[in-house]
Formats: sequence, C-alpha cells, structure tokens
Amino acid sequence: MSEYLYKYLRTEVFPTPFCPGCGHGILMGAILRAVDELNLDFQKVVFVSGIGCGAWIPSPHFRADTLHTLHGRPVAYATGVKKMNPELNVVVISGDGDLAAIGGNHLIHAARRNVPITVICANNNIYGMTGGQLSPTTPKNSKTMTTMTGNPEEAFDLCKLVKSCGAKYVVRYTVFHTKPLIKAIKTALSANQFAFIDVISPCPTQYGRRNQLLTLFDMYSDIKTRVVHYNSLKELKPEELSGKIIIGEYYDEN
Ligand code: SF4
Repeated sequence: MSEYLYKYLRTEVFPTPFCPGCGHGILMGAILRAVDELNLDFQKVVFVSGIGCGAWIPSPHFRADTLHTLHGRPVAYATGVKKMNPELNVVVISGDGDLAAIGGNHLIHAARRNVPITVICANNNIYGMTGGQLSPTTPKNSKTMTTMTGNPEEAFDLCKLVKSCGAKYVVRYTVFHTKPLIKAIKTALSANQFAFIDVISPCPTQYGRRNQLLTLFDMYSDIKTRVVHYNSLKELKPEELSGKIIIGEYYDEN
C-alpha cells in the first residue's frame, strides 16, 4: 500500500488478515485511491460490511466510521444509515456469498428502490473465510468444498441481476484492471443513486488450490483469458461467451 494512503488506514491493526496473493488488498488500495482522488471527506463516509474475507477490507482497517454487521445484512444496515443521514456517503463492501446468497434479497430490493448507496462486491467466486463452500457466483464445473466433483449449476451474473432490478450504475472489473476500477469507484461514489461494482478478486487459498490455479500467476492468466469487454458482446456468439468474465459498464439496452 502506498504510504500516502496510510492517512486513511488504522495501520496499528496491520498486517491485514488476507492470505498471500489474495486480491482483496488490491481492491482495498483501489477504493482508497478513489477516495483520495475525489478528495472525499473520509469522516462523511460510512463503510458497511457483512461477514467474510471481503468484509474485512473496511473493518477494522479504514480510519472512518465502519459497521461490521450480520452475515448477509450490510445492504439493510446501509439503507438505514442513508435514510437517517442522507448527507453521508454510504458504501457497502462485502463478498459474493454475503451479498448475493444470504443477502440476495436485500441486494435486489435496494437496486429496485434505487437506494442511493454504493455496493462493492469483492467477488472471489467462493465462501473464502468459512472454508471454501459454493457461492452463487462459483463458475459451473468449479470445485469447492461443497462441490468436490464440480459445480453442476450455472452461476449468477450479479451485474445482470441488479441491472434487471433497475440499478442505475452497474459495472464489473477485476482487481487486475486497476485504473478503470478506480474510475468506476469514483463514478459510483459521486452519484447519488444505487451503484453496484462487481470486482473479481482472486482467492488462491480456497478457490485456486481446488481448481488447479496454484499461484497468483495461474489465477491472473485464467482471468486474463476469460475477460471480454461489455462493448464487444455484440461481436460474439452466445456459445463464445460461455465461461467468460464480462467487464465494463452494463448500460441500458434500447
Ligand atoms: S481465503 Fe481467499 S478471499 Fe479469504 S483472505 Fe484468503 S485468499 Fe483472500
């Protein structure tokens, strides 16, 4: 982490609990860079998280108000915070299991109601902290602790899901797309509307080692070969999109 960002961090709680090679540290840096570039008053930002590795990004690390809530409930808490104090910039940071499985109900209704909060999903495609169980974004055929011979189900595309519920600003990047990711976070933090950012963040410990992606380089290469930009979707046949990670802004189709 660059030293100029230390002012946003409770460095006394370092080191972070993230495993070597985890993408969540990169996401943490991207969020803080966005805050710094916008010159946001950190005392007027509230970070809300649920349970899981992604939830540890803001809490206890950010030197701001943080709410570390029940599993699956950060969007509900964030809605309450925003409702009571609309002046605050309210940002949810949590994982795919927390936001899309246990908290899926809150997520879709916050999108539908255009609750003016930013939701950043630290999407590692698995329940990392609790031992590597299947999550709603685990790719089909991937091995997890609960699908040892491969996931038989299709994964949720969380961007499509919230977009279909009416979310106004919806975007996905991986932690390897740092510059556009920071730009997307800045856009979300500046918009007083429901914004959803899906961030693909590698989990070498629980996902990689079960899926023959043993090093961060293996995970990076796998992600790199699967990335497709939203703007090029029209050039591809549906079968060519199987297993792909669609990045970029999900805009309204006419
Ligand atoms: S279990 Fe996975 S997501 Fe959790 S800290 Fe380790 S690498 Fe990161």
